[in-house]
Parts: sequence; structure tokens; C-alpha cells
Amino acid sequence: TIIPSKILSNGVQMPYLGLGVYKMTDREEAILAMTKALEVGYRAIDTAAIYGNEKEVGEAIKNANVSREEIFVTTKVWNNDQGYDNTLRAFETSLKNLGLEYVDLYLTHWPVEDKLVDTYRAIERLYDEKLIRVPGVSNHHAHHLEKIFAKANVQPMVNQIELHPYFSQVELRAFCNEHNIAVTAWSPLGRGGILQDEVITTIASEVGKTAAQVILRWHYQQDIITIPKSVTPTRIEENMQIFDFELSNEQLAKINHINKDQRFGQNPDTFHFDF
Ligand code: NAD
Repeated sequence: TIIPSKILSNGVQMPYLGLGVYKMTDREEAILAMTKALEVGYRAIDTAAIYGNEKEVGEAIKNANVSREEIFVTTKVWNNDQGYDNTLRAFETSLKNLGLEYVDLYLTHWPVEDKLVDTYRAIERLYDEKLIRVPGVSNHHAHHLEKIFAKANVQPMVNQIELHPYFSQVELRAFCNEHNIAVTAWSPLGRGGILQDEVITTIASEVGKTAAQVILRWHYQQDIITIPKSVTPTRIEENMQIFDFELSNEQLAKINHINKDQRFGQNPDTFHFDF
């Protein structure tokens, strides 16, 4: 399977599906999972400084039979490292931990109200210096993005947000679309919490795929990038087998209908972890 890529606003190609590595803290388990993913055809890994596994990401990439240029690495600056100078320093630490010479996509992990613009300006500088290929943000609502638009020379090209059939983010997606910002879905499977949904399992048996594959395909057919997480080799493989079938418009509509604006994670407007 070859995973298709989305062309971002600066022409850089970002794979539509990557491996999320949140909570992969056991060193050996993490390296095994990432190595497995690269072996079966994943070409993107989504980590963050706070996940504590950037070293493992670097190691898996070094050991892989795939060249660095073919792999799309995302990492993020944590909340208490925000601000202009702090972000530049945090990036240097991430780069060192990863053992890489550049990062593909660097994101503000969460919007810290009084710092998010300075944090983004530092990300912009890293982009100018070609230390990152794509500048972006995560968990930013329209009002956060508008603050950035007012001050930025280069707009964020990616916004990584919680997005799955129970929290389909129709408005924020439309806003990002309008501004040429690619949307990446975190917790695309609702942390596993949507896999038993009857609408999903019914469609899964209709198309002869698993619930996880149906959900990831629903994202893909709406131009949304996904980063499902698994450490289980069979599931890692299963999650990328979504490019050999199609959901009908009727099936997509049925899935759109199960939205209940239900988050599994934090709300960016009220989350204040470690500011
Ligand atoms: P997810 O929706 O990817 O669900 C992962 C869980 O679903 C796994 O732990 C496993 O229990 C289950 N699962 C995975 N594949 C399965 C399969 N094929 N069959 C059955 N069960 C399966 O949730 P997540 O880990 O929260 O999110 C994915 C990634 O998104 C993270 O690893 C991280 O990289 C990123 N993320 C980012 C933020 C952010 O603030 N930017 C927040 C949360 C997660």
C-alpha cells in the first residue's frame, strides 16, 4: 500500500495517514511499533516534546530502510515552553532528541492565550531558516488563528485538532478550508471509543472492512489527514489499509449523522495544563 499525500499550501506533500505515538512511553515497545509502521509503508510519525519519545522516533527512523527525506516527522512545542525565545530553545532540544537536521512539521501544541502569537512567530522564523518544512498549530480555534493572521507573514499551513465521527468539527474545518489550512485529526478513532458504534459497525460489514478502517476512510474522503495510534502490529497494518475501498455518499452521510459534539480530549478554550 502506498499512502497518498496531501499537497499543502507551500507545495510540500504530507501523507494523509501517519502513526500517532502519544503514550508510547515504553522505549522498546515504541521503537518496535514505529519500526513496524515504517516497514509496512507508513511515511509519517506524529510526536511531541511532551510525549517523551522523540529519541525513540529518531532511532526508529535511523534504523529504518527508508531515507530520511521520505519520512514526514511532526513534533510540537509544549505549553510551558511557549513564547518566542523559549520556543526556539524547545525546538533545538527536540531536534537534538530526534537526532535530525530538520523537522517536517512543527506545531504549537495548545494555544496559550497570551503567548500563542510569539510562539508562532518563532515557528515562522524556524521556517525561514529552513529548519522546518511546514509551520503549523494544534488545537487552535478560529479566534486563535485570527490573532496569528494579524501578525504572521506566513500563515499556519496545518491545524491538528480533535476530530472523529462523534466530534466532526464542521465549522472549524470550513474555516481552515477557507484559509488554506490543512486539517489533521487527532484521536481519529475517538481513542477507540467509536469502534462499537452501530452505524459504523453496520457500514463496516457492508464494505467488508473493520470499524477502524471505515472511520479512517471517512476522514480521508473528506480530505482530512489522520494519525491513528496503535502499538499492536496487526492494527498498525490494519489502520493503513484504507485506500482500496470507497464509502458511498449515503454511507458518508450516515456517519456524518452520528456527530454529537462529544470530545474525548480537552477543550482548547478551557485547558490550562502547565502554562
Ligand atoms: P486514537 O483515536 O488514535 O485511538 C487510539 C486507540 O484506539 C489505541 O490506543 C487502541 O486502543 C485503539 N485502536 C487503534 N487502532 C485500532 C484498531 N485497528 N482496532 C481496534 N482498536 C484500535 O487516539 P489517540 O492516540 O488519542 O490519537 C492519535 C494520535 O493523535 C496520538 O497518538 C497523538 O499523536 C495525536 N494526538 C494529538 C493531540 C494534540 O493535542 N495535538 C492530542 C491527542 C492525540
